[in-house]
Amino acid sequence: MDLTSIPLRKMMLKEKYREKLPEKSIIKASSDHHAKRKPRPCGLTIHPAIGCVNQCTYCYIQDMGYNFNNITPYGLNGTEMVYALLSNPYFMPTINGTYIAIGSVTEPFHKNVRNKTMEYIKAFEELGNPVQFSTKEYIDEELARKIAQIKIPISPLITIVTLKNKNVLEPKAPDIELRIKTIRNLKAEGLKPIVFIRPIIPGITDNEAEEIIDEAKRAGAIGIVAGSLRLTKGVMERMSKAGLNVKLIREAIEGEEAGKMKKKIMEIAEEKGLKAFPSSCCANAYVSGTTCINLCKNAIREIPKASVEDVKNLIKNIIGKQVRSIIFNDNSIRILMEEKLTRKEKDILKYNLRVILRRIVNIL
Ligand code: SF4
Repeated sequence: MDLTSIPLRKMMLKEKYREKLPEKSIIKASSDHHAKRKPRPCGLTIHPAIGCVNQCTYCYIQDMGYNFNNITPYGLNGTEMVYALLSNPYFMPTINGTYIAIGSVTEPFHKNVRNKTMEYIKAFEELGNPVQFSTKEYIDEELARKIAQIKIPISPLITIVTLKNKNVLEPKAPDIELRIKTIRNLKAEGLKPIVFIRPIIPGITDNEAEEIIDEAKRAGAIGIVAGSLRLTKGVMERMSKAGLNVKLIREAIEGEEAGKMKKKIMEIAEEKGLKAFPSSCCANAYVSGTTCINLCKNAIREIPKASVEDVKNLIKNIIGKQVRSIIFNDNSIRILMEEKLTRKEKDILKYNLRVILRRIVNIL
């Protein structure tokens, strides 16, 4: 696909969905936070549910104001969610557009919400973006088949941070054996399941890493994503209540140990012939065969070709403003605009150009 046509594709799709949706849905979708939020480094996070009942000891969602006692499907239907994304100034459709990440603040395949999650992923088919989900749930053969039938790149991350301490760390989440079966079922359907070793709990995950990797590999995982713990006050309190050595964990997180643990776990995975990704966007890039939107060195494939004229057209289609000059430097672009942009305009333009052109963008 011609990269310069991505913003036009967005406009055409938005128009199409505007005609499809009743006025009430348009108002609801365009005022939703999915229509406004700037993507996180892993892509635009989509929330198919509110809250999570797994009550993982290391989970930070309570500190963000989410509920640990209820999980309820999100209020937008699939078409409304697509319209919300197309209304988001930071979002670009197509396989070369924004990465979509599902499951950051909930369990997307919990029985109460899995239909909503599937409705969303199915609805994203027309957008074409790479989609990633992270889960601890059991995905049976039938559900795995349904996921595999959706014709967009889908990167499944299956979280396993312990084999032996699940009851302490993830008291209400599904058993590890079921997660291993999930990997097997997804692999049998031709997907590329990756074991999500995040967060690494010092003193637990680092000690069990080799066994986790062996189990996941046996089940068909093609790689791992390793990631550190976000230690909030709430997390420390819960860990302390659960009898974990918070002092040791805190020292590891605040010192250099956590970084060393992650490196070691990645080395173990590579020694065993698995791909080792330092962050989830790299896994999404790998599965979708695209250059990582964060330009991670270990995931870069190729920088798309683009001319000065292409960039001018893109800028015109994204914010409708004129360019004075453009300088290409290997993997970066410096842009001088005819008129001063607001901070928001600059941010939107910079993000979108970075995604479409997979280059570092400076706007003067
Ligand atoms: S499954 Fe995820 S969102 Fe739910 S409690 Fe555990 S870490 Fe938090």
